[in-house]
Amino acid sequence: MFSFRASRLYWLLPVTILAISMAPPASGSDRSTTSKASGPHAGPQVAGLIYRIISNEWQTRSTMQQYSPRIETYLQYYRPDPMLGDVPTADSYFLGRLKFSSEVINRAKEASFLPEAPVGRVLRHARMLREGLHPDEIALESLVVDERNFDSKHYAFEPVRWEYLGDVRCLAIDIHPLDPKSPGAFKGRIWVEDQNYAIVRLNGTRLNAPLLDSYVHFDCWRENLRPGVWLPVYIYSQESDRGNLRYKSQSRLWGYDLAARREQQEWTNILVDASTPVRDNTEDTPDLSPLDGQRQLAIDAERNVLDRLEKARLIAPPGPVDKVLETVVNNLIVTNHLGSLPPIHCRVMLTSTLESFSLAYTIVLSRGLIDVLPDEASLAMILAHELAHIALVQRVDAKFAFNDRLQFSDEDLLSVLDVARNPADEAGADAKGVEFLQNSPYKDKLSQVGLFLRAAVDAAPHLPHLFGPHLGNGLTEGKSKMLRMEDLVIGAPALRPLDVDQIAALPLGSRVQVNAWDGSAYFPSRKAEPLINASEKMPFRLAPTVPHLKVHFPGGKAALSARLAP
Ligand SMILES: [Zn+2]
Repeated sequence: MFSFRASRLYWLLPVTILAISMAPPASGSDRSTTSKASGPHAGPQVAGLIYRIISNEWQTRSTMQQYSPRIETYLQYYRPDPMLGDVPTADSYFLGRLKFSSEVINRAKEASFLPEAPVGRVLRHARMLREGLHPDEIALESLVVDERNFDSKHYAFEPVRWEYLGDVRCLAIDIHPLDPKSPGAFKGRIWVEDQNYAIVRLNGTRLNAPLLDSYVHFDCWRENLRPGVWLPVYIYSQESDRGNLRYKSQSRLWGYDLAARREQQEWTNILVDASTPVRDNTEDTPDLSPLDGQRQLAIDAERNVLDRLEKARLIAPPGPVDKVLETVVNNLIVTNHLGSLPPIHCRVMLTSTLESFSLAYTIVLSRGLIDVLPDEASLAMILAHELAHIALVQRVDAKFAFNDRLQFSDEDLLSVLDVARNPADEAGADAKGVEFLQNSPYKDKLSQVGLFLRAAVDAAPHLPHLFGPHLGNGLTEGKSKMLRMEDLVIGAPALRPLDVDQIAALPLGSRVQVNAWDGSAYFPSRKAEPLINASEKMPFRLAPTVPHLKVHFPGGKAALSARLAP
């Protein structure tokens, strides 16, 4: 597979001047403007522009090495169906972080966070060999244009047109290697923004894969995360013409704020906080009773678990999505007279896998789970189950109140942390949760909730990775697919996959967006589009996301220009 290797900068190489000018149009030009040849004076301008693109790309590559973003790749194999669209048949999952190896200078690797038994590893490798597809490396292939030879000696640049990606005016340029046999060379299209000519999107593939290997087609989007710096945040990949191999995959990168060496950054944050006094009137605080002590231990364990997960950027910092979830929890609390409980908080786990768990007084839902829930009543169902754990005093293991128990690397975290419930606790929480729902404002909408659960049971056998939780409990369990809140299915209508008006579950990516810098989660503003036919329902499926690009740091232009000046 494509990998980073040591390489040198070719900033001073002569630049091939192309027949058609890539000079930017005058500012304020119309969105549909297409670039045209602009006369004999275009030459030096084009050379300068290509020089900026190339040097900016080298800069991006070295900037990337300062960070250690989280990477998640979720892949669905599918079969085309004339009525239902691309129906998933199996799936694959990777979660880890980007790191640059010190053994081979600058070589990018993905360090996995997923515990894996030896048998699982053998099976996975056998499948990769058979298909020539490496789900855990798709993101690496598309991070930069070419890590060794990106310069005008090795590539031809052909301008296509000016167009807008989101709010950013970009020049689309087709590029291909001058030597068609060059291993790992990129062929496809790049989009460069009109301020610094940084690449904001790459769409294409690589050529001349090593023996027994192959490259995929990818569409990689970058966001403006620092002044003048655009870093990869989202990669979509799809293949449909490699024999029987058909798949779609989505990779997300977030948590760029985690520096590759972060000790210094943590000390800085703590020292900034020190300027705010936290507490006064300490003399008035009464001693804790044994009951208070017991609760405090659970609260300490909860805080330790949340802190550690947030530090690994596996859960989002507190934010607006939490508030929406807490409103629904509050509806359940008020109507079930649970006012004696301490305040209940909600958090978002940043992964696509469908899972939830509760600790002492905090409920955590995964991004993927929030995405696929079709309505508020279904969200209430998930929250009612977790609230039931809290009301039944089924708490996180108090062992996590002792701080040494969470001092592990990010790579080991998911195998060390165990917050899943046993079957008896699950059954108890299901019964209590159904009771909460029947007393709640959602009591008349439980047939829709049952429909969602029906769709989950239908999809789960084909998508074990999506339905397989890493920390908490999933919607379904084992091969037999016993499901959560099973009683609600009884009153639910039958699934009608061809009926456009029956929406049982949504596609992944439907609701929550993640800020790629700090991993904060939010609901983007989107308008609902009516569906044309059943193939657009896509329950639990992957669909390409089109990021809305924005310039977040307009002040970066001057700083970057100064840095890149020849
Ligand atoms: Zn549970």
